[in-house]
Amino acid sequence: MLQEDRYKTLKEAIRREGTGHCGLVAVSKNQSVEKIRRLIELGHRDFGENKLQDALEKWPDLQRQYSDICLHFIGPLQSKKTKEVVRNFDVLHSLDREKLANKLSSVLAETPKHGFRCFVQVNTGQESQKAGVAPSLAGDFIEFCTKDLALPVVGLMCIPPAGDNPRVHFRLLHALAKEKNLEHLSMGMSNDYEIALEEGATYLRVGTYLFGER
Ligand SMILES: *Cc1c(COP(=O)(O)O)cnc(C)c1O
Repeated sequence: MLQEDRYKTLKEAIRREGTGHCGLVAVSKNQSVEKIRRLIELGHRDFGENKLQDALEKWPDLQRQYSDICLHFIGPLQSKKTKEVVRNFDVLHSLDREKLANKLSSVLAETPKHGFRCFVQVNTGQESQKAGVAPSLAGDFIEFCTKDLALPVVGLMCIPPAGDNPRVHFRLLHALAKEKNLEHLSMGMSNDYEIALEEGATYLRVGTYLFGER
């Protein structure tokens, strides 16, 4: 299938299955500027990257050219790189620990950024190699971020463990968000976006399906 057709298929699935408004983050990590440009020309504006250095090689030029691009940082973030992420991105999907939250708070105090927002990443599968706050600690961490630091947290994000039924993880994330009155759910990738839509995703993060193998 052509990239254009895949994009349309995905948008159609969102229209059909989404319970409310659902955004689509096109994950462009390791993809060529040419492929990215094709999606931009189809009218797409939300893109995701998981590595700061890679993103900085392609996005500043594109952002100058298309002023309404919304760039999402979806990968693990070292706190010393927080300032650069805030400068270059609009949404952070991987707020996952106190040190990073404190850093983000001081960066935003120093250089306020209108419209910047973040998701708390929850390690729903409790995998030691994966980032995210443990489900049992998520409530306290969210309170710390929103109440103590007044961070613009809009929702929760998760990456289900490979091989697990993703639905269980999406449901857990949804329940946690509801408990904390958070509107957005960043969940669902190429292999499980349909299930994520059924479980109330408000942001899918899709790479391979849209762009082909990396
Ligand atoms: C790469 C990546 C995605 C997209 O994964 P695909 O399987 O290529 O759709 C989504 N979220 C995060 C955090 C990623 O790193």
